[in-house]
Amino acid sequence: MNITEIREKLDKKEISIEELYEKTKEHAKKSQEKLNAFVTITEKCEHIESNSPLNGIPYSLKDNISTKGILTTGSSNILKNYVPIYDSTVYKKLKESGAVLIGKTVLDELAMGGSGVTGHTGIVKNPWDQSRIAGGSSAGSAVSVSEGIVPFSIGSDTGDSVRKPASYCGVVGFKPTYGRISRFGLFPFASSLDHIGIFAKNVQDVALVTDIVKGFDEHDMTTLPDEEIKYIDEIKKEMKGKTLFYIKEIIESASTEESKEVIKIFKEQITKLKDNGIKIEEVSFNKQLLESLYPTYFIISCAEATSNNSNLTGFIFGNREKGNTPKEVMINTRTNGFSEMIKRRFIIGSYILERENQEKLFLNAKRVRRIVVEKLNELFKKYDGLILPAGSIAPKINTNEEADRLGEDYLILENHLVMGNFGGYPSITMPMGYVKNMPVGINLTCAAKEDALCLNIASQIEKIIGIKDNKKGDEKDV
Ligand code: GLN
Repeated sequence: MNITEIREKLDKKEISIEELYEKTKEHAKKSQEKLNAFVTITEKCEHIESNSPLNGIPYSLKDNISTKGILTTGSSNILKNYVPIYDSTVYKKLKESGAVLIGKTVLDELAMGGSGVTGHTGIVKNPWDQSRIAGGSSAGSAVSVSEGIVPFSIGSDTGDSVRKPASYCGVVGFKPTYGRISRFGLFPFASSLDHIGIFAKNVQDVALVTDIVKGFDEHDMTTLPDEEIKYIDEIKKEMKGKTLFYIKEIIESASTEESKEVIKIFKEQITKLKDNGIKIEEVSFNKQLLESLYPTYFIISCAEATSNNSNLTGFIFGNREKGNTPKEVMINTRTNGFSEMIKRRFIIGSYILERENQEKLFLNAKRVRRIVVEKLNELFKKYDGLILPAGSIAPKINTNEEADRLGEDYLILENHLVMGNFGGYPSITMPMGYVKNMPVGINLTCAAKEDALCLNIASQIEKIIGIKDNKKGDEKDV
């Protein structure tokens, strides 16, 4: 059920908040063996009565978002026993709105990854096909909504970690403008790219939750001033004469049979959207620049991650290993605490940050980022939004070192969503169809601060495409 449907049942007293919590908790526990979406499932119905539309609604939270008194691991061995002493702003706001936390969800270790196979509690599986990945890093969040355990979940998105698993799992995933939602209490990965994002069954629910969690926060100096609008009202406004664009070279980059199928569906949907009054144009983008998106993202994010995670020494947070000197303690803690994948990213990050490499690697990556953002900002003057396929279909589970790559099309098709983080743009993924009985998503990105416009157009697209409250088995025998 979506939020509106649950709201109705609660308001009509067909079920109490307590009963709903118990049922949801049972569902979460039962799903664990099959899907492994949760690090922690809460034991008690912690509920504060409120007048908000989220009063009594169950939800899940990614396990890199701090919850006072509740284990928050970042899905890493180094923090496997870490219990925060303060609440993140997003959790605090949800608590005050009467929403009920069901559990903390599995991520790729420290949010670095796109597969959902690297968390310290094991692989997260895709509810549509358990031999496939859920995508990451917000894997458990996407799964908990896709499986119908909770109607919404909170994740984080540094490169595409909300919008990609949403696509792989057939749900809606929205990352608002950088600074729209406070990141106070989110474990930082790459601060210039990190966003909080929302998973739900449809655009309306995503707008509703964004209204509750957005806003200025004195604890996060990157937050934007409050907008005196409600997205839930904005999405209902009549919208005509909007023009979108898609990037030709991204569409043409599909190389596998599966991704070509995805492009076919994308083109069909573009025709349908045009037939329904949305103007859409094809735009050409420098191919070399597109090919440098992922390397640029990787350089900036690894450098920032190495710096941000240098506080995981064993002295302040989490596990502490033995050693005869402080240095030995640190070395042992970090050696045993991080997986190979994380160590690889920190080695890359440290290399990039070496004084002699900074100019050539780090600063050049930042220049490329700026060129991309300037080009997109220019296009957003002419167009209302950028529409693209969110990627290919969820790959088969593969736990080897290549898990970072997500298959043949990793260079462009599977990673172009990082553009949304480069410019801090609002960006949303919605279901657009099925390939091999797996859901595939369409993504819409708008100019920075145009969250209302983005949600409004998304809601039109959702109506025209006609996949709302996506359920397994809806389309064909899955
Ligand atoms: N898949 C990307 C990565 O590997 C994005 C991760 C994210 O957005 N947290 O870093």
